[in-house]
Amino acid sequence: MKTMLKLAAIACGVMTMACKTQTTVGDFATYPEYKKNDLGLTYTPEKSTLRLWAPTAESVTLRTYAEGVGGEALETVAMTKSTKGTWVVELEGDRKGQFYTYQVTTDGKTLAETPGVWNKAVGVNGVRAAIIDLADTNPEGWAEDKHIEVKNYTDIVIYEMHHRDFSIAANSGVKNKGKFLALTEEGTLTPEGLASGIDHLKELGITHIHILPSYDYGSVDEAHLENNTYNWGYDPKNYNAPEGGYSTDPFTPEVRIREMKQMVQALHNAGIGVIMDVVYNHTFVNDGSNFSLTVPGYYYRQTEDGDYSNASGCGNETASERPMVRRYFVESVKYWAQEFHIDGFRFDLMAIHDIETMNLIRSELDKISPSIFVYGEGWMASSTPLPAEQQASKHNGKKFPRIAVFSDDVRDGLRGEWMSAGEGGFATGKVTNRQKESIKFGVVGATQHPQVNYEAVNYSSAPYANDPIEVINYVSCHDDECLRDKIDAVAKDANPVQRKRMNLLAQTIVMTSQGVPFIFCGEELYRTKGHIRNTYNLPDEINRIDWSHKAKYNDVFTYYKELIRLRRSHPAFRMATNAEVIQNLLFHDSPEGTVMYTLNGAAVGDQWSEILVIYNGNREGVDMEFPMGDWNIVCEDGKMQLDAPRPFTGGSFYVHGTSAIVAYK
Ligand code: CA
Repeated sequence: MKTMLKLAAIACGVMTMACKTQTTVGDFATYPEYKKNDLGLTYTPEKSTLRLWAPTAESVTLRTYAEGVGGEALETVAMTKSTKGTWVVELEGDRKGQFYTYQVTTDGKTLAETPGVWNKAVGVNGVRAAIIDLADTNPEGWAEDKHIEVKNYTDIVIYEMHHRDFSIAANSGVKNKGKFLALTEEGTLTPEGLASGIDHLKELGITHIHILPSYDYGSVDEAHLENNTYNWGYDPKNYNAPEGGYSTDPFTPEVRIREMKQMVQALHNAGIGVIMDVVYNHTFVNDGSNFSLTVPGYYYRQTEDGDYSNASGCGNETASERPMVRRYFVESVKYWAQEFHIDGFRFDLMAIHDIETMNLIRSELDKISPSIFVYGEGWMASSTPLPAEQQASKHNGKKFPRIAVFSDDVRDGLRGEWMSAGEGGFATGKVTNRQKESIKFGVVGATQHPQVNYEAVNYSSAPYANDPIEVINYVSCHDDECLRDKIDAVAKDANPVQRKRMNLLAQTIVMTSQGVPFIFCGEELYRTKGHIRNTYNLPDEINRIDWSHKAKYNDVFTYYKELIRLRRSHPAFRMATNAEVIQNLLFHDSPEGTVMYTLNGAAVGDQWSEILVIYNGNREGVDMEFPMGDWNIVCEDGKMQLDAPRPFTGGSFYVHGTSAIVAYK
């Protein structure tokens, strides 16, 4: 079986053992649904009201505290059973600044205290929820802050980053290293005097950053940040509160919220959108999660034996098809979009979620802003009880329109299969027909095109995008080796100059293909992760961006920047519909190991009437035939020359090894 399983199991870094759930399976359908919007805290200066959905509870105790951790309870109150499985309590007076927990007794057992699942503010390490007034967390000018507007999702250029990777290095020039605030600092410089931080992003020209998990996760001890623990954060604890480790003060609940908003605001002011990586598919722990401590069993899928099923590979998987789970995910996403002005969501292991939920998320986000982009990993890490036809997998991609999936087909076609450490791909000189058709699959944005042989594509035998807006083309992300390290691993026989050309060729294919391009933070600085494959919890020394690379590998940076400028200046590379691609993209016969096609720019409003693109994956140069005409070559032999194109009248042409040609007339 062709597999597209990804190493998210390892990526999440959680070693939870599967164990029995605390409730018998099968009666969840009888749980009442609560549809009003007042779950969690409703704060006013006169009183604070708390409502918890816990239909199987026999009693619920609420405790208030002066601190986010430690100390005796200020008061212990029995909550009152209310409608549709909810429990409610009203706390008189202004409770701002206090913390609280719920404690549920069910099936004769009293469970551990929990901040509940609907909290929006927490104390250190997310142990207790906090009573705050969200209005206090808005930075100055927040009311004027708006989502970044996007005409077509194919106009987006995504830059995936981890907060620590980006700014933690001593030479980042940034003061708030590894924090949300790092992205608010303008005018920062590398030691060689080049732009770093947010100015670097502006210079590079990407349109959106995709931040690795930034909700409250469990693997970093926020009380001891001086330990500089590193983790990607694929271990969710509180879904609706920001991670404390990225704030300057994880003890004061408002601070992480305000600082994350400041980050969004600064990026928006720079014209850059913010996409959050969301991991609703599993939680850090099983029986001890806020879900389990509120309604045992309900939020997770079970195996026939009543164990936690484990499609995430992290010990459990959530059950989006159950009404109150679905509602929770939808409301959570809406909250981030509305309260934090988040411009997009990347769903980890999206195939674990059911299609109906993803479609509901899309339609609810459309009501807030159709510019909000949604995409995800169209696979899972292990098996699930959710029927295949309900899974939001890439193979079902056409059933959830306007939601994109990652193309592992083009990724591995370019760099080599992720399962085979030593195998290369098209860009590294492995130019079989399978690689070639996988590249063509990427070029057409995973849509239907009469000149692609889908049977030969890496892991897919059919297009999975209705339109190019529904696929993410990429060659690297946080998972597995970064591009430079992968090329080092698979092209040991190539010299350093050739390896750099492979890197540039791979990204040229990503950036000129139809679909939504995505690059991993630091590839433009020729980053390395020490040739280590999985770095989810390794020290900063491995994961950090070394900003001295910007001067050292300025040729790489300049090439990436110009490549992005090429794409953003020319709508022919960004067609929004399958019909446009079929009508305006034509492949031409070309020698083995090469792909050649033309784009009808005039038909899609491009100032270039016709564009010719050639990718040569062979390490040797190839003689090819250009169509006749007055061409201007803007990319050749591993160099971009947008402002000084070289004229060429067509005919016989030498395409250098491991390089791309882009020409127009
Ligand atoms: Ca945390």
